[in-house]
This record gives sequence, structure tokens and C-alpha cells, in this order.
Amino acid sequence: MVNFPPEKWYNVVPDLPAPLPPPMDPPDAESSSIELLNQIMPREVLRHQFTVERWISIPDEIRDAYAQVGRPTPLLRAKRFEEAIGTKARIYFKYEGATPTGSHKINAAIPQAYFALKEGVTGLSTETGAGQWGAAVALASSIFGISSTVFMVRTSYEQKPLRRLLMEMYGAKVYPSPSEKTEPGRAALGRDKNARGSLGLAMSEAIEYALKNGLKYAVGSVLDVVLMYQSVIGLEAKAQLEAHGEVPDVLIGCVGGGSNFGGFVYPFIGSGIGKRYIAVGPTEIPKFSSGSYRYDYPDSAGILPLVKMLTLGREYAPPPIYAGGLRYHGVAPSLSLLVREGVVEAMEVSEEEAVRAGLLFARSQGIVPAAESAHAVAAVIRAARESAPGTVIAFNMSGHGLLELDVYRRSSA
Ligand SMILES: *Cc1c(COP(=O)(O)O)cnc(C)c1O
Repeated sequence: MVNFPPEKWYNVVPDLPAPLPPPMDPPDAESSSIELLNQIMPREVLRHQFTVERWISIPDEIRDAYAQVGRPTPLLRAKRFEEAIGTKARIYFKYEGATPTGSHKINAAIPQAYFALKEGVTGLSTETGAGQWGAAVALASSIFGISSTVFMVRTSYEQKPLRRLLMEMYGAKVYPSPSEKTEPGRAALGRDKNARGSLGLAMSEAIEYALKNGLKYAVGSVLDVVLMYQSVIGLEAKAQLEAHGEVPDVLIGCVGGGSNFGGFVYPFIGSGIGKRYIAVGPTEIPKFSSGSYRYDYPDSAGILPLVKMLTLGREYAPPPIYAGGLRYHGVAPSLSLLVREGVVEAMEVSEEEAVRAGLLFARSQGIVPAAESAHAVAAVIRAARESAPGTVIAFNMSGHGLLELDVYRRSSA
């Protein structure tokens, strides 16, 4: 049994089936972007990004903050959903929507705010798509008494005013991206004054803003340190399933950059539990089926070091699907490697299939899945149809959709 919240994070890197290719400076760069990471990330976060230790102690102040935001989150059985889809599989889900900001993102925001504070930094800057990451950074910053500045992808800024309000309630400054506040923002507006923005561009703005204002940059996904901070999800879920006397056969999570998937699934992979691990992306952003495995920039402006990952290319402009958290061109390096090595299966489901699945889940269980999480729900339905009776399926409900009910409007009739 682990104590709640867990006392250590789990790092999958030493347990990967092949060595993880390290981040790299671009060959023709004038200055080192790895050096840049030193400037923009809290030192301890950077150390965690490059560590090959399997277990990392969680400081007590962070465990207290995890407790404050409701950790451990519930692990629930979805019995009426099982009945609704007519399966003899047993389906469990970890409910990250039970945190104050409504998604798993707070798990990675808390350590970054804490480690920034510990080195005397006055605030964090970051980007956000749908607003979940920005809200998490705003709350984590307010818990530790530092400031937060959030660049929010313009599409979402306009579609999701409630998320913006939530961030402002926690004390964040929120700008639509592209903005006039930074060089990459002004360049994008120069090319197209109605530019809708992307996560990558907003990331570039947040990084430049941190550099110019003496802040630290908080990274929401993709980098392996974020997946490690998210491991509290899977570590708790493992203990909770044990308490139910269950051993999961199939583990499922949706993938934007890979943080909730890695956080939920890696602790099971690390302890050899599970027969199938399914990573679910959107059909509309086909990085699993059409991406190539190569060194690419994690951000669209090409500021951060190159990482080896499955990617559609940093120039790729994701279509405006509702699941803002899934609008990203790449997949975390460790997860890309696990997919390449055949340990993790990739699946792609359309927004339409995800919304239908999410609606069925809401009607049977009462919990409204976030548009992102609804992709995992759709994969659960597919997996349940393929599974023998008695199969145990566990998935991560990465967030609730109560601030984005619009996605369900057209199909709720
Ligand atoms: C951000 C987000 C995602 C996607 O990001 P990952 O880093 O892949 O987890 C999924 N679900 C929710 C609710 C999100 O907020």
C-alpha cells in the first residue's frame, strides 16, 4: 500500500525498453536551447527532467498541497456504464475531475510553483489551450503566494470565457494568444491579424515573457518531468484497485502531449501490471497514425531544445476541435518510444465518436467527461467490445466537462 498522497513520484525512464534519446540543440542554432532551459525552468524541475532515478521523494509541502486539492482522487467503478454498453468487462476510472480546477493538470502545476518559490522566483508564466493548464498554474501559484501570467490560445479565449474567469479568480493575468505582448505573438498577428493561435505559439509567447520579466516558465505536458509529476494518479490508482481486489488488464488514457496518460499508466507498466495499454488521440490530429518519429521542436516557434518524438511537425496547425487539450503536434518522448517499441498501443477516435461516448457516460454515470477525456471513454467502449467477460478495464477520466458543455449540445437531442 502507498500512503496518500504518495511519498514518491515514479519516473519511467530507467524502465523503458530502450534508452530515451536525450533532448538536443538544433545543429545550426546560434545559442544553446538546453542552456535556455536553465534560465526558464526552476532548477529542481530541470534536475527532475534529466534524472534517471526511478523514485523521487515528494517534499511534504507538495504533499500538503496535493491533499488540499483533493488527493487521492476517487477511483470508481462505472457499473451503469457497463450496463449501458452491454459489456461483461468491469470498468473502473480514476476521476481527476474531482480536483478544484477540474482536471489532472494541478498535479504538475503544484511542484513547479513550489520549486519556483523555493528559489526565490516571484511568479510563473505559461500557455493554455482549453484553459485547464492555465487554471492549474493559477491555483498552484496562489497556493504558494506567487504571481501567474497565462497566454491562452485565442480560439479558446473566445469559446471558453468561464475558464478565463476561473484563472482570473485565482489571481492570474490572462492574455489571448497571439498577443501583442511578445515577439512571436506580434509576428503571428503580422502574418494574420485574425490568427486563431495554437498551443505551440502560446508556449513560445509564455517563454519569451518569462525571460523578459524574470519569471519561470511552467510546462504543462510533453516533457518527461511532467509525466513524472503526474505519476501520483497511477500510484494512487494502483493502490485503490488493489483495495478493490482487482488487477487491471487494460489501461487507457487520452493523449494531448501525454501527461495524464503517462501519469496514470506508467506506474502500472513499471510494475508489470496490465496486458494492454491504450493511448488515445483524435482522428482529426493524427499524430499516431501520420506522425513521424524524429527530432522536432516541442514549441512552434522553435525555442525549446529538440526532442525525439512522434510529431506532425511544429508547423502543423491543429484543426479547432473542442478538445483544446488534444490540439498539439507531438507526443511525449517516453510515450513515443513506448508506442514505437510496441509496449503501448495507439488508437485514434473522431470527435463525433468521443462526444457520443461522453454523452453515454454522462447519462449512465452522471459525470460529464471533458471533451479530451471523452476520447478515452470512446476507446473504453471499443476495448470492452473486444474483451472477454471478466476483463478489468481501467481508464483515466482526466477531467470533467462542466465548463465546456457546448461540445455536447449538438448531440444531446
Ligand atoms: C490537457 C488535458 C488533456 C491532454 O493533455 P495530456 O498532457 O496529454 O494529459 C487531457 N484531458 C484533460 C482534461 C486536459 O485538461
